[in-house]
Amino acid sequence: MQILVVEDEVSLANALKKILEQQGYFVDCVHDGLNAVDYAKGLDYNLIILDVMLPKLDGFEVIRILRKDGVSTPVLMLTARTSTADKVAGLNGGADDYMTKPFAAEELLARVNALTRRRGELIINTVDYGDLSLDLSSAVLTSGERTVQLSHKEFEVLKTFLSNPTMTVPTETLLINGWGMDSEATDNNVEVYVSFIRKKLKYLNSRVSIKKIQKIGYRLEVLE
Ligand code: CA
Repeated sequence: MQILVVEDEVSLANALKKILEQQGYFVDCVHDGLNAVDYAKGLDYNLIILDVMLPKLDGFEVIRILRKDGVSTPVLMLTARTSTADKVAGLNGGADDYMTKPFAAEELLARVNALTRRRGELIINTVDYGDLSLDLSSAVLTSGERTVQLSHKEFEVLKTFLSNPTMTVPTETLLINGWGMDSEATDNNVEVYVSFIRKKLKYLNSRVSIKKIQKIGYRLEVLE
């Protein structure tokens, strides 16, 4: 997957590049609107992350030129502005999604995953419980309007819970599913990952929580 990052704040561009490369994306960065048009027309990117306030051409002009010239690459627009008018202008101009700076890396990755998987993927494979929905192909967890990207281990641990939603899952089972049979990981490792998942459930405002059952394991609970 190839992503073009267009952002004139070089430190932010580099931070985005690093976050995305850690997830296995290939990333090119450009820092003004003219270069953005050249790169986006010259190479077949899976996604363009496009800042609005840019030197030479702004993000809205960039997207107008690209769409006029038949470039249909999905565009995620970034902006420091928060007004609804800008949002509408961006989406009318052909942007596929919109994100306001500053943003959390998790939110960025959830949106990037959604946009890069949009093309050609018709089957959505999810596990649902309470107000949660876990996408099994992208490890994106959704509750209501909010989404969050899970790491590999968080995904394996939560998937185990969601496959046995009304049972107490033994810590041993979580260790095997998350770390493998031969791992040296201990109950403490599970505890740490459960705490990461709890933070994400909290961020999602989910009614689902993970309860510790002393000396046995953990169980999902849904608040009424
Ligand atoms: Ca800018």
